[in-house]
Amino acid sequence: MVKIKNQVCFMCGKKYKPEKVVFRCEKCGGSIDINYDFKEIKNLINKPTFTKAPVSHWKYWMFYPIKNLKNMITLGEGGTPLINDKFHKGRLLKNEGLNPTGSFKDRGSAVEITKAVENKVHNIYCPSTGNMGASIAAYGTRAGIRVTVYVPSGAPPVKVQQIKSYGARVVNMRGTYTNALNSVYELSEDTGAYISGDYGYRGEGEKSTGLEIIDQLNWQIPDYIVIPVGMGNHFWGIHQGLKEAKMVGLIDKFPKLVAIQASGCDTVVSSWKNNDPLPKTRKNPDTIAGAIACGKPNFGAEVLYALKQTKGLAETVTDGEILQARKELGKQGVWAEPAGAVAYAGAEKLGLSGQVVCIITGHGLKDPFAGGAIPSVY
Ligand SMILES: *Cc1c(COP(=O)(O)O)cnc(C)c1O
Ligand SMILES: [Zn+2]
Repeated sequence: MVKIKNQVCFMCGKKYKPEKVVFRCEKCGGSIDINYDFKEIKNLINKPTFTKAPVSHWKYWMFYPIKNLKNMITLGEGGTPLINDKFHKGRLLKNEGLNPTGSFKDRGSAVEITKAVENKVHNIYCPSTGNMGASIAAYGTRAGIRVTVYVPSGAPPVKVQQIKSYGARVVNMRGTYTNALNSVYELSEDTGAYISGDYGYRGEGEKSTGLEIIDQLNWQIPDYIVIPVGMGNHFWGIHQGLKEAKMVGLIDKFPKLVAIQASGCDTVVSSWKNNDPLPKTRKNPDTIAGAIACGKPNFGAEVLYALKQTKGLAETVTDGEILQARKELGKQGVWAEPAGAVAYAGAEKLGLSGQVVCIITGHGLKDPFAGGAIPSVY
């Protein structure tokens, strides 16, 4: 309902008309940023009825590219708790595992599927290591869309079961997540199939993680926001949400953004450490944190840019460090899947102090036996 001014390729700057459906730049394959009429947003949020309203994903509807809120597909996503870490002063946990399908992906799916409804889409194809597929399956089938999810071998059985439970079709793929992604991409080029997943509108929805954090901190910024990076879409969405919050005057400074990856899939972190503007690719990612085992991150260049802009930090963590973090989280009532414990492991490894928000991205029930059964003395 807020006017979109234009859509611009992040990589080459090519502009697209506001109403055009474009996943990746037609010229260079870059991701697409959406520019709104920020004056209009400013008018909408410039009142206590906005700033004091309880946090929820759709509170920030004016930051999304939705034409009519009547089309909204929602399962009550967002509004997740920001709680104190029992073991570290100043550290806060944003528990995204409490979203309707157990991960933050629901923020992106709510916007992406609502947008698909507006675009009169009937079939959606999605590559996924599990969480994306489950989320798109839930929102897609609720919207009456047929959903087909391409799943690489090695996806946790619980996640595959979850995808099927929502009524989606599952196509089992050999190889890695990148293989599944390429298959879906080819299908889309051959048949015009509507792909869902790490494309434009999703990042618009994932802005709400960042917006909720500053809202829960009474429109103050923390020192750091620590984010696990797979494709980089969530990281970039959080950056964009904060950037736009600053543009409309909700905050006047920027927190440092911190990217954490598994050492077995360090696409962005290794480039950051080598001062390289583009992410490396990893042919065979090897990590217990399956949800971030993405060998070719669609939003890697964007993450590197955001790290530079926010004078951020980037680090890798080992599987052992991830499991240790999962244990510490569990002992304070927060059960995370391995990827969900990655930010916590990173904050620990970097020894971050001050106000540090760790995003716990996915629920432990998603991949309960990762790392083996829990011993009776844990
Ligand atoms: C998808 C996912 C991530 C990574 O998010 P990206 O947008 O791919 O960087 C991290 N943790 C969990 C639990 C996820 O499902
Ligand atoms: Zn381009």
